[in-house]
Amino acid sequence: MDNGTPRVAYFCMEFGLHEKLHIYAGGLGILAGDILKAAADAGRPMVGIGILWRQDYTEQFIDEYDRPYDSYHEYRYDSLEDTGVVVTVLIRDEEVRVKVWKCTAFGNAPLYLLDTYLPGTLSWNLTGQLYGWFEEERIAQEMILGIGGVRALQALGIDVDMYHFNDSHAVFAGVELIRQQMTKGVPFTDALRSVKQHIVFTTHTPVSDGNEVHTHRILQYMSSYDGLSSDQIVQLGGDPFSMTAAGLRLSRKANAVSQLHGHTARQMWKLVPGGSDILSITNGVHNGTWQDDSIRQAHASGGDLWAAHSALKRVMIDDIERRNGVRLDENVLTIGFARRATPYKRSDLIFSNREVVGDLLRNHRIQIVLSGKAHPNDMGGKATITNLVRIAKEYPGSVVFLQGYDMAIGKMLTRGCDVWLNNPVRPMEASGTSGMKAAMNGILNLSTLDGWWPEACQQGVNGWQFGGGYEGGDCNSVDVVSLYHVLASDVIPTYENQRDAWVGMMHASIDMAQWQFSAARMLQEYYEKMYV
Ligand SMILES: *Cc1c(COP(=O)(O)O)cnc(C)c1O
Repeated sequence: MDNGTPRVAYFCMEFGLHEKLHIYAGGLGILAGDILKAAADAGRPMVGIGILWRQDYTEQFIDEYDRPYDSYHEYRYDSLEDTGVVVTVLIRDEEVRVKVWKCTAFGNAPLYLLDTYLPGTLSWNLTGQLYGWFEEERIAQEMILGIGGVRALQALGIDVDMYHFNDSHAVFAGVELIRQQMTKGVPFTDALRSVKQHIVFTTHTPVSDGNEVHTHRILQYMSSYDGLSSDQIVQLGGDPFSMTAAGLRLSRKANAVSQLHGHTARQMWKLVPGGSDILSITNGVHNGTWQDDSIRQAHASGGDLWAAHSALKRVMIDDIERRNGVRLDENVLTIGFARRATPYKRSDLIFSNREVVGDLLRNHRIQIVLSGKAHPNDMGGKATITNLVRIAKEYPGSVVFLQGYDMAIGKMLTRGCDVWLNNPVRPMEASGTSGMKAAMNGILNLSTLDGWWPEACQQGVNGWQFGGGYEGGDCNSVDVVSLYHVLASDVIPTYENQRDAWVGMMHASIDMAQWQFSAARMLQEYYEKMYV
């Protein structure tokens, strides 16, 4: 270890390291995976603490009525190292045994994975499904991550200077650290003050559903107080218990994940007395994972960027044909859109006016590739996916929906499309990292001014914005009119008639993203602004 560099334990419910390790749902996990890879690249003393989800988040496929359905496998992993460590966590008055695995297989700093799948125990299934269905299940999972995670680090003999909670799921780790001080006779207030010096917290979603709240009744039922009194737990998270408020009160510093999200989060959480300040540290993605080597080389060496891009586009078109039996046209402007299906992301916005978009599709001016998953009990998100699948059937050969959105599909689309569409309702998208992946590959972003994009967008130079940052009840119609306008007056004509200008924009996009939106830059900022 280089002297003075803080040793960091990075806690997260999900880690997206590779599509073959099925322990992530979406952006939060990809961020965590990318941080561990950046830490390994930079030789930083960081470890990850996560959960070995045996049944994934959900593998979601489409049935014969165009409806998404969830399917769960039981995964076994041969590449994980057995640490031999088992810790226990008291959950609902039962001592739950938690086994600890180690993963270093993906060029990442060590990731320790907690697992309750032990034969003959009642709680074997607690680490089954990521973000399970029931509140009690979710709380148990968070206790395993937080309390189990602290105990696992201690049992492994790993010294930690800084605990980083990536979102609030890990706040019980703070409760456990306080409890340990109190067993040595330190009063609660002093224990909180000293523990706080070693915790930082990243807050994510501005969507209120994403900010968990629990009643004290249910926390007591689950044995979540971990030996603290109800008064002390209320001091941390309030009544009802807000996980985010607890994260803010347990940490010395907090951060939001883009500049704009920083403004939003400071507004949202200004009424948490005793909460830490919220800085803005914009997310980044791991270049080695998300940027294709051929693109990096062509960009750096003045090689033929268009040829490199076209090769990746063909790879995507071939793969889509294998998956869906649909052959897209290599010469048509291809728009990609892949995200979790959740209302604020408006996955079907571009289809709002069928006359306009129908003409563009039938005349082969554009083609559209979509992918996405909805949370298993998000009926609205699932209805959106059904809508997309039906639209794809109406425009055969011009619109495709790929089922089973995962890192492999994400990689393929952020390399192979021409334009990356993103249209969240501002300011609901905290960051939106898929656009950074696209930008690094010279895929031009076409996005509302939300998340990271206001920091990056130079109109017509490295991509395009639409909607002008509008926030209002009628933003759907404002944004869609603006989207069609930018498509018709800028994006399509440039693609069709000005190839050199387009390639110039691809270079500008890569220049903009390669460092500023890399996980390496983000990690450096965490060390400079949060860990010291
Ligand atoms: C990058 C990525 C995300 C996050 O992208 P957003 O832009 O935040 O929607 C989600 N899922 C997968 C599989 C990804 O690769």
